[in-house]
Amino acid sequence: MHDPMPWDALLLPLVLLLPAALPAPLGCLHDYYGVHVDAAGVTLVDGTRLPYDDGRDKSFAERLAHPDVLDTFTPPYPTGPITPVTTPDADPGRARLDALLATVYPRAGLVHVPFVGTTIVVHARVAPAFARVAARLDAILAREPHLRRLVLPLGGTLNVRSVAGTDRQSAHSWGIAIDLNPAPSHYWRWDKSAWRNQLPQSIVDAFEAEGFIWGGRWAHFDTMHFEYRPELIDPRCRPPSAKRGESADTARITPPPSTPAP
Ligand SMILES: [Zn+2]
Repeated sequence: MHDPMPWDALLLPLVLLLPAALPAPLGCLHDYYGVHVDAAGVTLVDGTRLPYDDGRDKSFAERLAHPDVLDTFTPPYPTGPITPVTTPDADPGRARLDALLATVYPRAGLVHVPFVGTTIVVHARVAPAFARVAARLDAILAREPHLRRLVLPLGGTLNVRSVAGTDRQSAHSWGIAIDLNPAPSHYWRWDKSAWRNQLPQSIVDAFEAEGFIWGGRWAHFDTMHFEYRPELIDPRCRPPSAKRGESADTARITPPPSTPAP
């Protein structure tokens, strides 16, 4: 036996308090999107409830089609050096809370902003972040003009449509996404190959530094695509523990069992 150290007595009440605390992802959804949250999830202005954890074990397709809050933070989004994505179905940020985004980014809020010598249509809430990315890209392209062909002509920003092959809304529906030049880009539906990419670290860093995630971090790669999801970039927003047995470090999604568990 050991004699309790003074800080043991201090730790116990803190540990007891933790389960009732607001999970970090919910605090970030409140801070970044201004939505009402409590420990169980998000409540939108029309009363829609978005649960933090609906307790369901889902296939990869179900996570995309019907994500709870925790699904949209799983696996964690990695920043830093670009690395080939080899883990099947590791698509951090590809699951979205469509109802939340539709509330936060109404069509009435669209504005035109200058972007690398052209003009794009984005949501006013995201326009300042796009402007900061544009300033970073201007500096990069002034230093390395040969990179212009990877950026321009843009593939586009606003496009109210479903994700190809699904009935889910594209991030382009909300005015929070941009596609760089499609020609030199790689997209899993076109390439039908292993992960490939031509974008340099500097351009990816320019977007991620301002709260944009990149489709090149996905197993279902889409290297022209960036979208504003600051809650996934901000390390303070990580879930307190990995979901349902998943490691926060490996980003591996376990396929559903082929036979029912006994
Ligand atoms: Zn896109």
